[in-house]
Amino acid sequence: MNQIMDGKKISNEIKNEIKQEVSELKEKGIEPTLAVVLVGEDPASKIYVSNKKKACEYVGIRSLSYLLPKETTEEELLSLVQTLNNREDIHGILVQLPLPSHIQEEKVIMSIDPKKDVDGFHPINVGALSIGKKAFLPCTPAGIIELLKRSDISIEGKHCVVIGRSNIVGKPISMLLLRENGTVTVCHSKTVNLKELCQQGDIIVAAIGKANFITADMIKPGAVLIDVGINRLENGKLCGDIDFNDCKDKVSAITPVPGGVGPMTIAMLLYNCVLGARQQGEE
Ligand code: NAD
Repeated sequence: MNQIMDGKKISNEIKNEIKQEVSELKEKGIEPTLAVVLVGEDPASKIYVSNKKKACEYVGIRSLSYLLPKETTEEELLSLVQTLNNREDIHGILVQLPLPSHIQEEKVIMSIDPKKDVDGFHPINVGALSIGKKAFLPCTPAGIIELLKRSDISIEGKHCVVIGRSNIVGKPISMLLLRENGTVTVCHSKTVNLKELCQQGDIIVAAIGKANFITADMIKPGAVLIDVGINRLENGKLCGDIDFNDCKDKVSAITPVPGGVGPMTIAMLLYNCVLGARQQGEE
């Protein structure tokens, strides 16, 4: 019996829990607030930012938008981040990536106060995650763990094969699976025996960015497949890195695209905002 993991439904459950927490914080006089910074007109980024703002509105988090022209200089952006760092009424700062090529992303990420780094990209949070300390967890990997837990899929002792080693998904999800006592293999573009390694995976996380890359012959019967990829096909439809139709009858559980990992990412962003507000409120 195979299970289609419903990220939309599970993320709605989480959002409703967060809504409750936001109203409790408001009763204590704390209004969780997220500052969202977007530089330029990238259409995909504009959609992501608008979805994030809508989700904030749904749970009662105040969101402030800073929509800057693509000519914004690195200095101007760093100065805005500094202002947001210093504002006590702002608990989370999100600078939507990618940034225009004349701005160094790393410099901007480093400039965000780690206590307001709700994306979990600052080296302080990355380091804390890797040594098992309390940290803001990056939203997509945290969403994957939550999706597995709430789908009653245990990670402990499982062979988890992660495909992709980006700082945003591949590396942090590998660390989190390890933290959950999985045995983790990380594959990437230079891995030579990818198919054999995938065939050993009890849980496979695909974060590659290549449409329908993982096919049924690459997985073992009963595997759990998590598809992080978001790829737009020529016909305009979205698809993942896993060939869903090819794999779905061979798996024990699989995430769809859209409606799998994507909604979980936004839910975890909201979770991080509330965590930031709670922690800063306690200081
Ligand atoms: P990335 O381009 O930074 O990394 C891709 C990784 O795939 C690299 O580490 C590379 O080594 C690996 N790779 C490339 N070709 C390979 C091959 N032939 N064999 C094995 N490994 C290979 O991408 P990313 O930022 O990690 O994102 C990956 C995908 O996930 C993209 O489609 C992106 O849009 C999507 N994404 C989705 C969410 C979400 O919320 N659902 C969030 C972030 C990223």
